[in-house]
Amino acid sequence: MIIKVDSCVCTPEKIIKDTNIQIKSSLLKDKKIQFDCSDSIVYPPFINSHDHLISNWYPKAGFGKIYPNVNIWVEDMKKTDSFLERNKVWINDGTFDLTEPTAKQIVLLGIYKNLFSGCAVVQDHIPKQKPSYYEDNPINVLEEYTQCHSLSMGNWWGGKSAVEEYANANSNIPFILHLGEGTDEVSKKCFPKLKELKLLKSNTLLIHGIALTGKQIKECAEAGTSICWCPNSNFYLIGETLDIDACLEYGANVVLGTDSTMSGSINLLEEIKFAHRKFPHIPLKQIFKMITTNAAKALMLPEEYGTISNNTSNLLLIKKHDQDPFRNLLQTQMEDIELFIHQGTPIYGNIKFLNEFNINKDDYYFFGKDRFVLGHPEKIIDSINKELGVKKDFPFLPF
Ligand SMILES: [Zn+2]
Repeated sequence: MIIKVDSCVCTPEKIIKDTNIQIKSSLLKDKKIQFDCSDSIVYPPFINSHDHLISNWYPKAGFGKIYPNVNIWVEDMKKTDSFLERNKVWINDGTFDLTEPTAKQIVLLGIYKNLFSGCAVVQDHIPKQKPSYYEDNPINVLEEYTQCHSLSMGNWWGGKSAVEEYANANSNIPFILHLGEGTDEVSKKCFPKLKELKLLKSNTLLIHGIALTGKQIKECAEAGTSICWCPNSNFYLIGETLDIDACLEYGANVVLGTDSTMSGSINLLEEIKFAHRKFPHIPLKQIFKMITTNAAKALMLPEEYGTISNNTSNLLLIKKHDQDPFRNLLQTQMEDIELFIHQGTPIYGNIKFLNEFNINKDDYYFFGKDRFVLGHPEKIIDSINKELGVKKDFPFLPF
């Protein structure tokens, strides 16, 4: 399949105008079939560096309060309507086995939240699950990582101590933990503790870092430690966020994450818009790096992620609303994704493309005038509606 496009954002630094993209896929009926999509732009599929797939319930779980640190919210949110409603479908019994069928259907909902916003990879911050959790998903749920919840709360949800988990990463895979999610003394103590435990490393990914000072951010940059920025979740819970200007000044490897919809944006597209609204002086190219090349580095992903070439088996084709491909993301809605291909398989988009692939139509859900998606998210919604006895809407689903 050859797609003629307005432009291709191969990397944040390399944009090719008026070019042809060749799709590599063993499923194609006719490899030479051509589409004129001069009204669209091609991007590498995005990467969401922080989510909790099991927690993508809606609306946000809060009382409109600002907390000095997140530990207090973790208790408070258990009284919210959103949390109590989710309990009707799945109750967290503390074992955190998310391969159990009722948990897995909510997790799948979270996977679709990411898919419909153009993410081919999501980092699900949760204790390591059984191998089946990471198999047969329409997108890549990062499997190779070790984690700790945080230094202030420890690994209360499962897993070993931060030091043991770091050792298990063996410098080959990312070690991920929340750090400094607050503005009080508890939050400020996390970074000195991280250094004391010798965890400030190049394969460490710190989530949030609201309490980090400019000097500490400089130390992260020097150590090659990555930092995940989740501005919407931060402002909602803490009323503050990471010192993003210091991150850019010192050249820290910053990535962007949504967090779950119980505290953050409804998806990565909205997180991009939120970050831009709050920090309009940050070049959109920088934000684009956070969801592509920086994220591929932080999550230590294979080469196929974060960039694309003219000959590719991963692709995100988005309608052009703005001449500038980076500014175009500010106008992008889920419905603007014309075609999303992951590892040669069409996973979301317009039916006119799907017809050119040898696929089993039963494996897909068709909705709207001309849309398809791989798998059956509508069945998850049916089952949740049955469980709740009312019709539940999730704003991250385009049907
Ligand atoms: Zn989190």
